Amino acid sequence: MAMKSKVLIVGGTGYLGKRLVKASLAQGHQTYVLQRKEVGVDIKKVQLLLWFKQLGAHLVTGSFNDHQSLVNAVKLVDVVICAISGVHIRTHQILLQLKLVDAIKEAGNIKRFLPSEFGTDPARMENAMEPGRVTFDDKMVVRRAIEEAGIPFTYISANCFAGYFLGGLCQPGFILPSRDHVLLHGDGNQKAIYVDEDDIATYSIKTIDDPRTLNKTVYIRPAENILSQREVVEIWEKLIGKELLNSSISEQEFLAIMKEQDYAEQVGLTHYYHVCYEGYLAHFEIGDEAEEAFTLYPEVKYTTVEEYMERYL
Ligand code: NDP
Repeated sequence: MAMKSKVLIVGGTGYLGKRLVKASLAQGHQTYVLQRKEVGVDIKKVQLLLWFKQLGAHLVTGSFNDHQSLVNAVKLVDVVICAISGVHIRTHQILLQLKLVDAIKEAGNIKRFLPSEFGTDPARMENAMEPGRVTFDDKMVVRRAIEEAGIPFTYISANCFAGYFLGGLCQPGFILPSRDHVLLHGDGNQKAIYVDEDDIATYSIKTIDDPRTLNKTVYIRPAENILSQREVVEIWEKLIGKELLNSSISEQEFLAIMKEQDYAEQVGLTHYYHVCYEGYLAHFEIGDEAEEAFTLYPEVKYTTVEEYMERYL
């Protein structure tokens, strides 16, 4: 049997990062996690890092402010996965990855790099609206650096993190589903794609030793999870045995409210706009130049929307 690649996870204590660490270990990879010096006395992060160590991960000290430490970390492994933050309402550090790209280039040993993407495919967002397009533009800057450096890559387009979208019945600003009322985006019929964050991690790790995903974008599109907001609400109504009152917010009203928010909120709302009013995630076919995870890895039993939502009961 071929040896499994050794993996370095950067951003390992993050929302997605911790799931990537667990999935990498679960799939039998020797797993290294960058322990940033700047974590300092952040007790939650330190405890999480120690827990990774108990699970079998190796912690490797480094910093984005210390190029050599990144080179040294990268030299320990075959694959680097970065899950650095990219959500403006928390923190957006996507361009810091250029330092990681430099380190990977210098180390010269990396067989695959998965940069911090895990959302809408930025290559399809050249017409995205301001200010939210910054997320896609920055991710494209990183892609160009990777490709110019000749680093083998896989880009994961993970669509909607279920916790953000299903938790709030697709309403921005909500992460727990109401039992009374829901605000529909327009007619609520645009399809989006919802993925359990643990499944995102499982599929991402599956790609790293797979020659079919080399230098490709991999979309995660679990077939049963391609649903409209109305369909998500119906699933929730079935689970709670009650119909919600609903009202609707038009595209114009949504955009007008968006313009009154601060910059970070506007970035997030722009993303919701593209997903919920324009149906950007589901309105295209995946061509021959890309792959789809659900098709590549039918052995993964992904979490359906209904199964995900049971946790809110
Ligand atoms: P988090 O906000 O949880 O942060 C991840 C990690 O980034 C942190 O744990 C930390 O790593 C690192 N980090 C934060 N600030 C700095 C800094 N100043 N210097 C160095 N490292 C830093 O990230 P998410 O898990 O929310 O996001 C990961 C990816 O997923 C992003 O690309 C984001 O755009 C995408 N995403 C997609 C969503 C979707 O619905 N499709 C939803 C949310 C995110 P450390 O462990 O070293 O402390």
